[in-house]
Amino acid sequence: MAKTKTTFYCQNCGTQHAKWLGKCTNCNEWGTIVEEVVSKEPQKGWASSDKKKRQRPMPIQEIEANEQDRIVTSNGELNRVLGGGIVKGSLLLLGGEPGIGKSTLSLQVALTIPKRVLYVSGEESQEQIKMRAERLQQTNANCLVITETNTQTIFKHIEECQPELVVIDSVQTLHTDHIESFPGSISQIRETTAEFIKFAKFTNTPVILIGHITKEGTIAGPKILEHMVDVVLQFEGDRNHVYRILRAHKNRFGATSEIGIYEMLSEGLREVENPSEILISQKDGEMSGTTIAATLEGVRPLMIEVQALVSTAVYGTPQRSTTGYNAKRLNMILAVLEKRAGFRLGTKDVFLNIAGGIQVDDPAIDLAVVAAILSSNEDTFVLQDYCFAGEVGLTGEVRPVNRVEQRILEAEKLGFQKIFISKFCKIAPRKSTIEVVKIGKVEDILTYLF
Ligand SMILES: [Zn+2]
Repeated sequence: MAKTKTTFYCQNCGTQHAKWLGKCTNCNEWGTIVEEVVSKEPQKGWASSDKKKRQRPMPIQEIEANEQDRIVTSNGELNRVLGGGIVKGSLLLLGGEPGIGKSTLSLQVALTIPKRVLYVSGEESQEQIKMRAERLQQTNANCLVITETNTQTIFKHIEECQPELVVIDSVQTLHTDHIESFPGSISQIRETTAEFIKFAKFTNTPVILIGHITKEGTIAGPKILEHMVDVVLQFEGDRNHVYRILRAHKNRFGATSEIGIYEMLSEGLREVENPSEILISQKDGEMSGTTIAATLEGVRPLMIEVQALVSTAVYGTPQRSTTGYNAKRLNMILAVLEKRAGFRLGTKDVFLNIAGGIQVDDPAIDLAVVAAILSSNEDTFVLQDYCFAGEVGLTGEVRPVNRVEQRILEAEKLGFQKIFISKFCKIAPRKSTIEVVKIGKVEDILTYLF
């Protein structure tokens, strides 16, 4: 009989505590600490068959470095985010909110890859998965489907059918015999993931692990998983919007700056190859409060529409609300406009919205935010063929942004007539159809706009 031992885990952040506490000392959440039974029995799982090839220390110049062996999927956006495809023997964690499309993306990959795939679902029956595959209008004789949650049984299936890629939907449903706590608990998630890591490394088979995300945006409880796996992909977007962004938060085999963009259709996720065109809404005529920002996501230029609504506050405290833009940054910009440019925005409600349900972190969007707020405040439109790329500093200065030439090229390609950038940007003169306007202070923008 195995000795049992219990540990206290915070179900929100995964921190281990020596005793029960009302409030987690790490993430400050109340009532999240749960006692879990952890077996003291030595771990078996995949490790039992693991007869390690012993390595010996080698001089670095004698080590042969081969390009990572990758499985190139038929999904161009996914390949781009991964840096060229799925690396063999890697463990890939695909996170996102429930219902965002993680299962759809994984099933699409499983159905279109020219490899033998085992798709393990703990959430859907084989019939449900079949129905989903039919909706995606894809079929693949090499895609095997099973509903199972016990890792030891899953490994038995794997041994029988020898897949070249394993998809697990989702890590929260898995449980291992070696731990007594319930599926989805921190110790189960940690242990089952560890078993799959051993399996992936030992057999050189890549594993895609789907993980649901809590409302705080961490990969369900276990932030710990992020340290264990090779690649962490996050599927972002608003369930109510059609666009989804796939972002690498961690990638041991490539950069984390690339993003993939998808459109959610009834027949599955469509890759969006030219995102700028879709992020700018189609509208009749000119409207105040909307501007276009020339942003970059990774190394990919994106023209994004910014919408602002400034109106007199009805109640005592003015409201500030943002979607897709940092709320604190909005307050900073409003303070700069008030203090440096003399706009009385303190008594106004300000609403800011980034089109397409996209979260933008690129500071180059600041200047477009300023222009949108001023445009709504003055109730005067900004010409549709103007765009902006500049960061706003605390003294109201417009600061240069990285890769400004690439942004200008993208704006030119899409037919914009004017781009506003910082006067401190150094760009080589060249012939182009777009006029580059250089400004030093936020208030300078007024002379050009209205
Ligand atoms: Zn916690």
